[in-house]
Amino acid sequence: MPYATREEASEVYPEYLQLLDDTISDEVYFYHCPKLNDCNRCTDYENRPQICRDFPDNPLSILPESCGFYQWRQQVQPVALMLHATLEILNYYRDKIPQSTSS
Ligand code: SF4
Repeated sequence: MPYATREEASEVYPEYLQLLDDTISDEVYFYHCPKLNDCNRCTDYENRPQICRDFPDNPLSILPESCGFYQWRQQVQPVALMLHATLEILNYYRDKIPQSTSS
């Protein structure tokens, strides 16, 4: 469910809004989930939607330090950055090398 205002979202998680402001120039939408209980636990974990199951969908995601995945991201981020850079280099040269016409 979307927050009514940006200020409402900022009251809940000011550090994350600041982090996004500092990192992303695109427009950002803030939502909260009615299935989250007062202990920050999912009340319908077995039936959570795919977006929740996939989160964080990659180790380059923007995560605040308070996120449970933050330590994991810190550990795997160097390798993820190296793989990401390698993929960009491969794609660059793939586009530069003419494709063979023989099979
Ligand atoms: S895991 Fe998904 S469904 Fe469960 S509380 Fe978090 S956002 Fe809501």
